[in-house]
Amino acid sequence: MQDKINNLPKLAKDKHKENKTFFAKLKKKPPKQLDYLMQELHQKEFERTDCLKCANCCKTTGPLFTDKDIRRISKYLRMKEQEFIDQYLRIDEEKDYVLQSVPCAFLDADNYCSIYEFRPKACQEFPHTDRKKFQQISNLTLKNVAICPAAFNIVEAMKKRIDL
Ligand code: SF4
Ligand code: SF4
Repeated sequence: MQDKINNLPKLAKDKHKENKTFFAKLKKKPPKQLDYLMQELHQKEFERTDCLKCANCCKTTGPLFTDKDIRRISKYLRMKEQEFIDQYLRIDEEKDYVLQSVPCAFLDADNYCSIYEFRPKACQEFPHTDRKKFQQISNLTLKNVAICPAAFNIVEAMKKRIDL
């Protein structure tokens, strides 16, 4: 898995132009069954991908934290919300709360998340490949294929299944 992760930025770069063209077409003319197809491709991919052998998302990017996430996680950690923000978060260019540093402070040595049940919504949903109207997050997906081997494979499978 580590070799795959190391090669991923190059593989994604090689596919970038093709992927960009594909998503531009997909946005203009999304197939009627796209939501169902994405559910199928996402499920199939995550049946064979073990995130515990990867954790590249937690190591290299991290999520944004909504107010609700901050409330829930700080309560679990028995911290005041402001204390939690001061210790772990910063505000990014888009005015969102994000991690001060990566790898995420909540990732342990075995790739387990120490706040798993309480983790941010963005972590629960990453890489967003089963969300509805998937064509609407193509810019994000173009970035995610360089981080997430599962997202990379799902986009490759999409290109084989959708004739645009
Ligand atoms: S979601 Fe993607 S990047 Fe994150 S651990 Fe799973 S396979 Fe790796
Ligand atoms: S909160 Fe947990 S799932 Fe989210 S980035 Fe950190 S370790 Fe990963």
